[in-house]
Amino acid sequence: MTAKLISGSEIARQIREELKEETARLKEKYNVAPGLVTILVGQNPASMSYVTAKQKTSKELGFHSIQENQPETMTEGELLALIDRYNRDSQIHGILVQLPLPKHINETKVLYAIDPKKDVDGFHPVNVGKMVIGEADYLPCTPAGIQQLLIRSGVKTDGAEVVIVGRSNIVGKPIANILLQKQRGANATVTICHTGTKDMAFHTRRADILIVAAGKPKAITADMVQEGAVVIDVGVNRIGMTPEGKARLCGDVDFETVKEKASLITPVPGGVGPMTITMLMMNTVKAAKIAAGVE
Ligand code: NAP
Repeated sequence: MTAKLISGSEIARQIREELKEETARLKEKYNVAPGLVTILVGQNPASMSYVTAKQKTSKELGFHSIQENQPETMTEGELLALIDRYNRDSQIHGILVQLPLPKHINETKVLYAIDPKKDVDGFHPVNVGKMVIGEADYLPCTPAGIQQLLIRSGVKTDGAEVVIVGRSNIVGKPIANILLQKQRGANATVTICHTGTKDMAFHTRRADILIVAAGKPKAITADMVQEGAVVIDVGVNRIGMTPEGKARLCGDVDFETVKEKASLITPVPGGVGPMTITMLMMNTVKAAKIAAGVE
């Protein structure tokens, strides 16, 4: 069997079209434009490119978007004051602070300072708690993107054995929580593997849906995958440069061998990656609707 590709690029494009229409409707009917501020402290090149991509997408969708470029020398107090200003700005519905922050700033303190109603990254403990009890307003973006990939590819999660490799707070734990909810697009039996797992292949071979977020190139090989499994590769590993000077990427799954065994598989790049920014936009539209009291 050769797996069909799940194209995150194509699914993200469809969702962005829907969000563009929704944004136009909000403006026309309720005079509300989803407002997003992205805050960048310093000049980390990867962070700069992520923030630029987020700004570009939000503008394409018709958002009211502001980019705050702050110097590396910004103090924690100044950043907290800036967040407070946007917490009180009624035109801004989503606040995104790009991580990592410079070492002299406490990231936890900063993330906790964002009004949970404007926490479109879904990292505030209030939103993490709501996700765990199945009452989320905002799901964290990468896990939300994975769930959308499954739903929109027609993958049945109800009753499925889902095995997740990785237990980080931004991918592994939240996707586990999302998929075990007694809800549409979820209701799976979930197992999480990590470096303390005794026999990882024993678990991964049982997976109807295998989600890998380990940050280890080609950690999952064909012998670890059940025939016909759906494989979602979250990993983004830089493994050198292309002749054009761009980073050469690979996932956590040995794509060439695993695609011969899986039924559906996400590529890297072009799989989970494009969904993350799209889900940030979806959360911002939702935040604008909640703020405006629109169903
Ligand atoms: P992380 O914080 O480093 O967590 C990695 C997790 O994988 C940890 O729980 C670790 O276990 C586990 N792990 C590592 N090696 C393992 C192994 N050999 N066997 C079993 N478990 C193993 O990473 P992350 O932030 O979740 O990111 C994971 C990957 O996804 C990275 O490549 C990252 O770049 C990518 N990512 C992509 C997107 C996107 O938008 N496409 C977004 C976020 C992350 P322990 O807890 O025991 O250490």
